[in-house]
Amino acid sequence: MKYLHLSALVLTAVFASGCSINVKARELPRQDLIPGGVAMFDIGVSQQAPKVTFDNQPVMLIPQTTSAGTDWHAVVGIELKSEPGPRQLSINGKTVDFQVGQHQYAEQRLTVQNKHVNPSEEALKRIRSESQLMRTAFQSFSEAGKDTWQPMIWPAQGPLSSPFGLQRFFNGERRNPHTGLDIAAPQGAEIIAPASGKVVQTGDYYFNGNTVMIDHGQGLVTMFCHLSRIDVKAGDLLKQGDHVGLVGATGRATGPHLHWTLSLNNARVNPKLFMQESLLPSPVATQE
Ligand SMILES: [Zn+2]
Repeated sequence: MKYLHLSALVLTAVFASGCSINVKARELPRQDLIPGGVAMFDIGVSQQAPKVTFDNQPVMLIPQTTSAGTDWHAVVGIELKSEPGPRQLSINGKTVDFQVGQHQYAEQRLTVQNKHVNPSEEALKRIRSESQLMRTAFQSFSEAGKDTWQPMIWPAQGPLSSPFGLQRFFNGERRNPHTGLDIAAPQGAEIIAPASGKVVQTGDYYFNGNTVMIDHGQGLVTMFCHLSRIDVKAGDLLKQGDHVGLVGATGRATGPHLHWTLSLNNARVNPKLFMQESLLPSPVATQE
């Protein structure tokens, strides 16, 4: 068993040398072994899908067609708020160890309206029931997505105003790190689906404003926040690039932008690791 880069390098080398294999290798998510990153495992060729679990939960699998047969890759999201250290994966009943390293994310201090720092009892009730809805969507694992992985495209055009993982302080108090990335697109700019998927939830949430959640399959879930308009409904099937809604500043937002959270196996991960390589580093010049 080996990590992704090895096999990716081999494949790249094969294509670069003009070898006549007419199998096009699919671009895979990129490995980054830090909290908020992704662990990749090249499991090898087998006819049947391997059985892979992490914390007893199923893991995303991507089949790659090669001249030798179907090569399976497991993709594990590493929770942003988790500690560095050893982790274990189970592949066909065998335990595989891997290490999550340390990463120092940037810090930012913000002054925000008081009602958002200390919400009322009524607001707390609403916040709790909304987080339950979001948790349910993040914890879902639809087998249907087994062969639907595709590298993502930017859901909106604009500079990245707040990077993934940013450690934030509101009015001097340490808050949760930024579990998504912010694209500073103007009010009313179009939002599109970064990959195909099924809309699993829409709503107007206390913190997140108008929100849309899209299940891309196999535990990979997008959440878009602060929309000025939602143009999809739960159950809608979207193809990559399909219209979702418009950028706004609803909920806790200091100005119009699209907040994009990407979750894999219920871990908040950096969306950039799932983007088409040719579209990086960002849709427009980045401020990171
Ligand atoms: Zn954000």
